[in-house]
Amino acid sequence: MSEPADLLVVGAGPAGMAAAATALAGGLRVVLVDSGAAVGGQYWRHPPAHARAAIPTDDLHHGLRGYRALCEALSAGRAAGRLELRLAHHVWSAVREDDGFAIHVVDRRRAPQETAGVLRAPKLLVATGAYDRQLPFPGWDLPGVLTVGGLQALLKGGGVAAGSRVALGGTGPFLLPVAAALASRGVEVVAVCEAAHPSAWLRHPGPLLRNPRTWAEGAGYATALARRRVRFRPRTAITGAEGGDRVTAVRIASLRPDGSPRPGTERHVEVDAVGVGWGFAPQLDLLVPLGCALTDSADGNAVVVVGGGQRTTVPGLYAAGETCGVGGAALAVGEGRLAAESVLADSGAAPAPGPKRLAGVRSAVARHRAFARALALAHPIPPAWSSWLTDETVVCRCEEVTAGAIRTARAEGGADDHRQVKQLTRAGMGWCQGRMCGPAVHCLTAGQRGYEPAERLVATPVTLGALADLDP
Ligand SMILES: Cc1cc2nc3c(=O)[nH]c(=O)nc-3n(C[C@H](O)[C@H](O)[C@H](O)COP(=O)(O)OP(=O)(O)OC[C@H]3O[C@@H](n4cnc5c(N)ncnc54)[C@H](O)[C@@H]3O)c2cc1C
Repeated sequence: MSEPADLLVVGAGPAGMAAAATALAGGLRVVLVDSGAAVGGQYWRHPPAHARAAIPTDDLHHGLRGYRALCEALSAGRAAGRLELRLAHHVWSAVREDDGFAIHVVDRRRAPQETAGVLRAPKLLVATGAYDRQLPFPGWDLPGVLTVGGLQALLKGGGVAAGSRVALGGTGPFLLPVAAALASRGVEVVAVCEAAHPSAWLRHPGPLLRNPRTWAEGAGYATALARRRVRFRPRTAITGAEGGDRVTAVRIASLRPDGSPRPGTERHVEVDAVGVGWGFAPQLDLLVPLGCALTDSADGNAVVVVGGGQRTTVPGLYAAGETCGVGGAALAVGEGRLAAESVLADSGAAPAPGPKRLAGVRSAVARHRAFARALALAHPIPPAWSSWLTDETVVCRCEEVTAGAIRTARAEGGADDHRQVKQLTRAGMGWCQGRMCGPAVHCLTAGQRGYEPAERLVATPVTLGALADLDP
């Protein structure tokens, strides 16, 4: 692209793709950046282009028509010289400047060699999605214990099944597509342990009835699993994993309504891989240092505050998709469109063609948000989950800090949030900087509400060599 960009979009998942396509349709020049090797994000994750013919994954996807339409819009934008697509570029920092924003990227197309660079534009849209939310349990650090999102990413991105006899656990509807995808590849899914009970949905009839497609999709997975005789176990959890070099068995227990195991119900099940997920945590690394206001969402996550047009509290900065709350790909696409429409309006450009459809997008976004809220309330983290932990259970894997050490920091050191625990025990000071253990440490000391992610000024490791090569 020869002329300066009007808009930087970070994240080429459903939200970022929809945002870039809408901004292009409105005539803007856009730079779209993603750390992955292909567009699509988590929902539309595909094998790398050179391996797609050899690894068929289309049957694992939904909404491929929408994905292909967005890919075509992006290709047309590139052909017209108005879209610069930077794949395998990880943004490690975003800062405000007098006339807009600068994002600092590290180009990993020729990894392990990396090159640092800076991209600038008057407007910035952050659509960096989410990652799996984890709760520790005894044995969760054994090889072969993965997140459910990790299992799905291996399957969609590389056609790889992580095991041949797999148990899944946690909460939320995402367990179902992962179980169905594994079963479709010949994996024996020995149990799907859902901590909540499906009857919790009956308390939210409105959002359920207004989103027939979503629950029809859920019913489709349930039927596929029943056909393959996969056991769905409501109000049950994986409370431990066992093994030597790698996992060989899980302990499964029925739960009381508060999430504590019912005595006498625990049993062992042999497995060679495990997937666990407690929903997702929004990826806010770039947004927190930019000074955006955050709020608590219904699932206990911190999310970025946006108005109806996806504007954050920082002028010129927009957010869309799961950074604003976990709600699925359809919501992410809608929010991406709305965010780009706001960029067009704020840049003095005409709306993207088809303005009549904008009202439809707004009402779909409101509908999906109501569904997401109901989902969070129907699939809470069980209040008594910490009763599964022994004092020896490792909570911070990077620094090997145990639940016992955290309990001592609370009881004897007076720590009442994850920051104070960090000062006393080093939990959250390691390689992942608390991305994995932060919410759990917060829960163990302060309860389930009010978690604020730490401010991380560097979103991905970057070598000093790459920085030294940067033009001053
Ligand atoms: C591991 C995982 C697997 C999932 N699989 C499914 C699934 O199979 N089905 C389903 O319904 N839902 C799935 N989800 C939920 C899914 O994330 C959403 O519903 C949907 O993809 C959200 O879209 P999004 O655009 O907000 O974010 P995402 O799709 O997550 O896209 C965000 C993009 O931002 C990029 N990014 C993040 N940080 C940076 C950075 N600093 N620099 C550059 N790029 C960055 C990421 O590489 C990613 O491509 C999954 C979630 C996770 C975490």
